[in-house]
Amino acid sequence: MSLFGAERIGCPEVLASLVFIIEDAIDQVERPDDIRNHITDCPHCSRQLEHERMTHAFLVDALRRSCTEKAPASLYESIHNQLVGAAANTEVVTTFSMTEISIEIDEFGNVEHREIQIEQTHIQHINVDGDLPGNDGQRGGRL
Ligand SMILES: [Zn+2]
Repeated sequence: MSLFGAERIGCPEVLASLVFIIEDAIDQVERPDDIRNHITDCPHCSRQLEHERMTHAFLVDALRRSCTEKAPASLYESIHNQLVGAAANTEVVTTFSMTEISIEIDEFGNVEHREIQIEQTHIQHINVDGDLPGNDGQRGGRL
C-alpha cells in the first residue's frame, strides 16, 4: 500500500524538488514525470522554478567571481615600499576585506542568500631603532 499511490502530487513536494530540477538531477526524485506535469499546470510552482533558476544562476556567477579575486600585486608593492621607506615612527594601516556568501535552502526549497562583508584593520607601528617590524602588539612585554 503506497501512501501517495495515484494521488496528485502537491505543491510542497514539487517545491522541495525544485533544486533537483535546477541541478538537472530530477532522476533522483520520486515520480519525476508527475513533478514535471505539475509544474506545467501550476503557475505558482512554475514561477517558483523560474525564480530558483535565476537565484541559482546568480549564485554560481557570484561564487565564480569571488573565487577568482586576488589582491593586486600593487598592494603588496605599496606595503613593501611603506616598510622600506619608513623614517622615524611610521604607522602602517592595512585593511583586509572579504565578502562571505552563505546560502540556505529551507524545506520548501526556497533559497536564501546572504552576503556578509568582513573587514579587518591591522595597524602596525614601526620604530626604526633596530627593532624589526612584524611582531605587532607583542612588543614591549618581553626583554
Ligand atoms: Zn504547485
